[in-house]
Amino acid sequence: MEKIQKSEEEWRAELAPDQYAVLRRQATEPPFTGKYVDEKADGTYSCAGCGAELFTSETKFDSGTGWPSFWKPIAEENVHHGKPSGGYTESEVTCIRCDAHLGDLFDDGPRPTGLRYCIDSVALRFVKS
Ligand SMILES: [Zn+2]
Repeated sequence: MEKIQKSEEEWRAELAPDQYAVLRRQATEPPFTGKYVDEKADGTYSCAGCGAELFTSETKFDSGTGWPSFWKPIAEENVHHGKPSGGYTESEVTCIRCDAHLGDLFDDGPRPTGLRYCIDSVALRFVKS
């Protein structure tokens, strides 16, 4: 996937303030406030920064944490993350195309992966299928 590189000024001008805070400044939205926490419709979740398709409704699950949670991305190569090292040790998840901060990865997710991609709603754009 081709990299998208923009200056911080360009990102700041392009993104809403809450999106900029999460995507470019590693902020985390407060739990149970994001618009996709309880989204149950079928569709695709793309990166709010660059439009790369990252997750689908098929791997979304209710984690009870207050953030949209997925057990697998559409393609492993579309997201970057370190390896969670036990229980609740988190690892940052970023978009491989624009380097946006998306959320964090935990290893307490459901089968078959056992992973929980804990993603901020403002980092995503949902399109119903
Ligand atoms: Zn992106």
